[in-house]
Amino acid sequence: MTKTTIHRISLLLALGVTTLLFGGCGSMPIFISTDQEIALGEEAAPEFQTELGGAVDNQQLQDYIQAVGLKVSAESDREMPYDFVLVNTDVPNAMALPGGKIFLTAGLMKLMDNEQQLAAVLGHETAHVAQRHNVRMIQDQMGIAVLASLAGAAGGEGAEAGTQIVGAMFSLSYSRENEFEADEFGAKYIESAGYNPYGMVELLEVLYSLHEEEPGKMEEMFMTHPITSERIENIRSTLIEEGSYSDQTPDPNAARFRAMHQLLVETLGQ
Ligand SMILES: [Zn+2]
Repeated sequence: MTKTTIHRISLLLALGVTTLLFGGCGSMPIFISTDQEIALGEEAAPEFQTELGGAVDNQQLQDYIQAVGLKVSAESDREMPYDFVLVNTDVPNAMALPGGKIFLTAGLMKLMDNEQQLAAVLGHETAHVAQRHNVRMIQDQMGIAVLASLAGAAGGEGAEAGTQIVGAMFSLSYSRENEFEADEFGAKYIESAGYNPYGMVELLEVLYSLHEEEPGKMEEMFMTHPITSERIENIRSTLIEEGSYSDQTPDPNAARFRAMHQLLVETLGQ
């Protein structure tokens, strides 16, 4: 055997091991059932909501967020008990628990200009649930054993499982691939729901430019959902390829959104 051949064989072996370690990650099945996933989300929801400042105390606003969210999530390819809550924290972010409970912060809503941007963020979070990204994130980053034991503990006594899930959701971040996928699926859902999918591009551009200006303010959002110029390019080129909408069409529901935006500012007394 020549030196070159040995070198090639070891290179192939190394590649094989790398593929097993990294390539295998994404394709590994998820080790908990949908019912366990829902139980896990329900266990974590109350603490998660408290952590995010509690629900914004205005029924009209909550009904509005819920209506837009349900309209979008009805177009997803996974039927789940989706539920949308506007929470009283000024830090811009949106998060989805396993099982379908989705939280949007007042701080993020305040940064939006129209309803298609709101639909876009709710669509992005819906996609993380529908594609099981959040469960996969916990499984891949905390380990199958941890996820399985959390799922086993959910619904039992004590708030251990809920607390751990809350901790995980605030400290883990979605992979680059999951973010691309959530943008693409999210844009698809909102388009099926009758919104201009360029709402997704608008939203990402607003958040990205804010991050450039005030990185500290956007830190949490960027840690949980890394926003890169690559993501903006990716979703823009996907939409251009489809060609069914333009980024120049104004949102027909912008006035309705602005009224809700105003109501939010008044409710928070700012
Ligand atoms: Zn995301």
